Amino acid sequence: MSECIFCRIAQHQAKADLIYEDDDIVAFRDLHPQAPTHILLIPKGHISTIEDASPDMLGKLLSKATELAKKEGISDKGYRTVINCREHAGQSVHHLHVHLLGGRWFHWPPG
Ligand code: 5GP
Ligand code: ZN
Repeated sequence: MSECIFCRIAQHQAKADLIYEDDDIVAFRDLHPQAPTHILLIPKGHISTIEDASPDMLGKLLSKATELAKKEGISDKGYRTVINCREHAGQSVHHLHVHLLGGRWFHWPPG
């Protein structure tokens, strides 16, 4: 069994509140939401960081994030997408994920 929690979620070996799935990507709700809507979008296959992903995969993740933002009703007021890469950004799970956050105001610059 994989040691990567997001691989396990993608393979249905670990529980998650899944909201979208296709052959390439999965979206599910963050376990510790930082906003009223906090969704994670991941590739099904293990990719460590944004630097290791193909343009096609990055396009899929981001365009699905915009679709889900509309479905979740956070598109009109606005939302934030975040991809943390390595230590300085606070990447804690080393399987590429896009955060989709909405339902409240966000500060800029980010902390
Ligand atoms: P990072 O800090 O790597 O950008 O974000 C990792 C995110 O994954 C965090 O927001 C954290 O709450 C979330 N997370 C970590 N483990 C799990 C898990 O087992 N299930 C779910 N749904 N989210 C998780
Ligand atoms: Zn993984």
